[in-house]
Amino acid sequence: MHFFDSHCHIQDHRIFPIHKAVLKRAAAAGIDKVLCCGTCEQDWEKVAALATDYEMIIPAFGVHPWFVRDLSGKWYDKLENLLLKFPEAAVGEIGLDHLIKERNDIEQLNVFSRQIELAAKLKRPVSIHCRKAFGDFLKLIKHRSVIPCGGVVHSYSGSPELVRKLQSLGLYLSFSGSVTYDKNSRARLSVQAVYDNYLLIETDSPDILPSGYQGLNEPANLTAIVNSISFLRKSNPEHMAEKTYNNAMKLFNFYKD
Ligand SMILES: [Zn+2]
Repeated sequence: MHFFDSHCHIQDHRIFPIHKAVLKRAAAAGIDKVLCCGTCEQDWEKVAALATDYEMIIPAFGVHPWFVRDLSGKWYDKLENLLLKFPEAAVGEIGLDHLIKERNDIEQLNVFSRQIELAAKLKRPVSIHCRKAFGDFLKLIKHRSVIPCGGVVHSYSGSPELVRKLQSLGLYLSFSGSVTYDKNSRARLSVQAVYDNYLLIETDSPDILPSGYQGLNEPANLTAIVNSISFLRKSNPEHMAEKTYNNAMKLFNFYKD
């Protein structure tokens, strides 16, 4: 059985000091690959170092909407250079967040759209964070040609109605530990609405612990998410693990035509 954790942050200051043990436990749990997403200029080098040291880690570099105000004047050039240095890297975590209190929506949209354009230029898939901002999101990504190499909306907890629209744009939907909570009825319905070929799973480590778990979240806990998703989709864990692994391998370009 293969597992692909399609979104996590091993460079995060809470989990980085114990990353060796975390990655060992991931390997022991059968996790083959993890996409480690950068979030700000300050953490990109750490992501790059982790990807260099561990075969299991696929890097993604991007500016998360929470950190747009911390950008230096050189961020765009730095990002482009890093992406060129790592041809297997995706662009992420990027996006829009209308749930945070102190924010500048115009600035968020500007930084997001520049990164979307960069991903298209360099032919990379994107890993997207979108909370309460699907209106602006769909205005920017009107057509699948805007994201020619596809992408994923991570930790999806939007409506089941929106699932079809996002899939038609070439976007995969990734589900995190939030689907393991009975009270999250919307995400649990959405997980049932996704086509098999657009489904991904993730831990978003070190956040979003699955129900019943304690401490910091880590990629080894992906098995709990597979179990929940299998139950909700009336499937079995082997099939769901294999299917989501193959989908992620395809999206992140590890299967060449
Ligand atoms: Zn994240």
